[in-house]
Amino acid sequence: MRQKRSRQKAIAVSQVDAILNEALQTARNDITLAKQQAAIVRRICLKFNIRLPYQKRQLFCRGCKTFIVPGINARVRTSNKQKMLLLTCLECNHVYRRPLQ
Ligand SMILES: [Zn+2]
Repeated sequence: MRQKRSRQKAIAVSQVDAILNEALQTARNDITLAKQQAAIVRRICLKFNIRLPYQKRQLFCRGCKTFIVPGINARVRTSNKQKMLLLTCLECNHVYRRPLQ
């Protein structure tokens, strides 16, 4: 018998968390593998309509949707003039801006 959708989603949420943490560990040694893991996470999220928390959502580029890790394929800077946090994706040069309080 097929599992209920709600139960499938609960499993998916726990798996997403685990795979994403794993991908963060892998990113230091093998960014290609980490990207593949993150792509799986993204597909699961799309399938089950899961909204990731802010910290996790930031790991995906808004421009090219790839997995970005600060220090590896993303650059994080604070702009004094604009009082903003600038997160640059080094894959597609998309800049994500967030105002600082
Ligand atoms: Zn990008």
